[in-house]
Amino acid sequence: MRDLAARAHRARHWEKWVRSPVGAVPPVREGAWCTICRWHGVRYHGGERCESALCPRCGSIARDRFLVACLAAGQVARRGTAKLKVLETSPRLGPAYRSAMGRWFDYTCSDLDERAHRGQVRIDLQDIDLPDGSFDAVMSSHVLEHVPDTARALSELRRILTPDGSLHLQVPLLQGATTRPSTPEFHGDHTLVQWRFGWDILDAAEDAGFDVTPIAPATFPLPGEDPGAISPEFDVDWLVEAAPHDRLRRLGDLHLDRLAGWRPAYMFVTFEALPRR
Ligand SMILES: [Zn+2]
Repeated sequence: MRDLAARAHRARHWEKWVRSPVGAVPPVREGAWCTICRWHGVRYHGGERCESALCPRCGSIARDRFLVACLAAGQVARRGTAKLKVLETSPRLGPAYRSAMGRWFDYTCSDLDERAHRGQVRIDLQDIDLPDGSFDAVMSSHVLEHVPDTARALSELRRILTPDGSLHLQVPLLQGATTRPSTPEFHGDHTLVQWRFGWDILDAAEDAGFDVTPIAPATFPLPGEDPGAISPEFDVDWLVEAAPHDRLRRLGDLHLDRLAGWRPAYMFVTFEALPRR
């Protein structure tokens, strides 16, 4: 009897959460949930890992949900409940994800040439054919490493933001400082990699007129701490050593990290860039 009552109590919590604002963490701190499409269940598909922890409904992986959590904790919290005009550059996810985003935002997705992804608008990040101040927020995830001129792209992204807008930028942050790939590198969608980024992407965004805060999950390690599972693509020692630890903002807590699949933390760093006034 007590079991049944507890189950009904939990079900009511989940129901309430499904209707709560984007970014809200469920009050029942167990199982797995998707802040984007509001699926919840026992566990994600795949392991607890940045490129895994797949939501079976919208297809988002752990880093997609971290990006939306950063946007929710930043721009959504600052601007209240008004539906923000959001542009996402070359999202790799399809209709289920995009319609879930449309529930929270006035959502537009773009692509350069629609070879790798389908977008609603075609834009070249180095020369964006959109008026100044077109969007309240831009999400750009794992795109900038394919763009030859980083400085121009960042300055164009700043131009299309409203003065109180925000850019949330994720790149594969592989090492302490940016270099060119030593041999030709392609990602899964066959696009050439121009840059292996390091923390100086932060300086490039500041030079483009942004104030920048790097955000990481709560378990982001300090030098000498265990960084979690190591991927051979990352120079983790260099990455952790060179991190601007005094500027890093932590999102969530250790418990949330584990449940959300935000592991290993060094793969999730997201740069929040606000147009400097
Ligand atoms: Zn989902």
